[in-house]
Formats: sequence, C-alpha cells, structure tokens
Amino acid sequence: MGQSKSVFSQEELEEYQDLTYFSKAEIVHAFERFQALDPDHVRQNRHASIRLATVLAHFPEIRVNPFGERICKLFSSDGEGNLTFEDFLDMMSVFSENADKDVKTEWAFMIYDFNNDNVIDRSDLTTLLSKLCGAESRAPPEEQISEETMKEVIDKIISEGDLDDDGMLSYPEFEHAILKSPDFFGTFRIRM
Ligand code: MG
Repeated sequence: MGQSKSVFSQEELEEYQDLTYFSKAEIVHAFERFQALDPDHVRQNRHASIRLATVLAHFPEIRVNPFGERICKLFSSDGEGNLTFEDFLDMMSVFSENADKDVKTEWAFMIYDFNNDNVIDRSDLTTLLSKLCGAESRAPPEEQISEETMKEVIDKIISEGDLDDDGMLSYPEFEHAILKSPDFFGTFRIRM
C-alpha cells in the first residue's frame, strides 16, 4: 500500500487528477489495481504495458464485460488492447461513477460502433446483441435470443432512434436515444 503511494510525485498526482474524474486517493488505488494485474512487470517499470490477455485473465470486471476486449482495444494507445497505466487510468475514469454523462455517451458510441464508421448501423447492432445475448455471449444456447428476435429488436431500436430515416443511428440520434434511457448510465460502470 504505502509503497505505491510513493510511486507518484504530488505534481504527477495533480496532473492525473486534472485529466480524470478521480481524486488523488483513487489514482493511487487505480495504480494498485493496475500493478496487481502483472506485479513483477510493473514493479520493474511503472510505464510498462500490460498485455490484453493478462488484463482479461486478472481483471474480472473486464473479463465478464461482454465488451471488455473491445473496451481495452479502444483505450489502449497501441490499439491492440495492451494497457499502460495511463490507458488504464483513462478507461477506469470514463467508467467511474463521477464521469460526465456526455463523456460516457461518446465512449459508448465508439464501443458500439464496431465497424468504426462513425454511425451505428444494423451490423453494429447485430454485433452488440450477439455479444449481449446471442451467439457471442456466455448465455447457454437455449437462453440466447433467436435471429428472428434479434431482427425485431434491431428494427425497434432503429425505428425509435433513427430520426432522419436513413436506417442507422448517427451520434446525435444515439445521444438522444441514450438520454431517454436513464438506467444506461448505471450500467456503464466498471467498479474499481
Ligand atoms: Mg458503424
């Protein structure tokens, strides 16, 4: 405990505090969580990058998240999902209780835009539902939703959210839909 506190200078803690939604104590705690993912590696070099596979193996909150791998890839500076402490801190900050709703909405849009084309279309929604409750989820086959149900759910999401009738959700349309579902922000959390 005391050892990791001395890892950062006051200036560094203040800088991280300015860049995140965390207090200094939470930043120190985040570093302890980070170091615990790969203790020897991080003890040798606190700027070490922890491999995606190690993060998934040792961080249950990410492993059980249906989008855990996608989230790590988006927050990783190498784009491969390997996380430096600063990547990890950014990620935990966005998923923290105090993060701004606008920031959470922007990241949610990026996470769900699986094909990275700046709109959420039927293919993105198919991937999303498949990871949540379909073939790519952990649900046993008999509990997974059928392709037909999936198509109905996607039709409903598009018909409710697509305000300009182009068959997909732009960022403003997504934002509008998310703000109508207040429980979304309760689920967009990773506990630390
Ligand atoms: Mg897309």
